[in-house]
Amino acid sequence: MHELSIMQALVDAVEAIVREHGARRVVRLVVEVGEMSNVIPMYLRNAFLAFREVKPFLAQAELEIRFVPLQLRCESCGFEFQPQGYRYRCVECGATQVRVVQGEELLLRDVELEVESDDPSWPVELPSHGAPRFCE
Ligand SMILES: [Zn+2]
Repeated sequence: MHELSIMQALVDAVEAIVREHGARRVVRLVVEVGEMSNVIPMYLRNAFLAFREVKPFLAQAELEIRFVPLQLRCESCGFEFQPQGYRYRCVECGATQVRVVQGEELLLRDVELEVESDDPSWPVELPSHGAPRFCE
């Protein structure tokens, strides 16, 4: 189940974003899973649930998995199409030289953070000059 190590990498990336923005928690993650990425969405979700148990910043986070179908582009005529089954032949001109436009990716597309504080002790005292800075 390599989805666990993939989710580990995603969680590490999200943690870096959380630190960078000084966020309190993650509201939502959007991950794009390509048809040919060899990732099984259900396993990815299970891995996410496991990390959510141990990572406080993920405690209430939602995971959205977006499926990205395989799309090919003909190198000969430029036509883009979604192949039927395993026939990677251009449906316009019949050429077999095609390249993948999308469908192999595994992408962290979006991270929604909760940044503002609802802690009543914050901010204790604003400086008398200038606005507080939230992001460096
Ligand atoms: Zn073609």
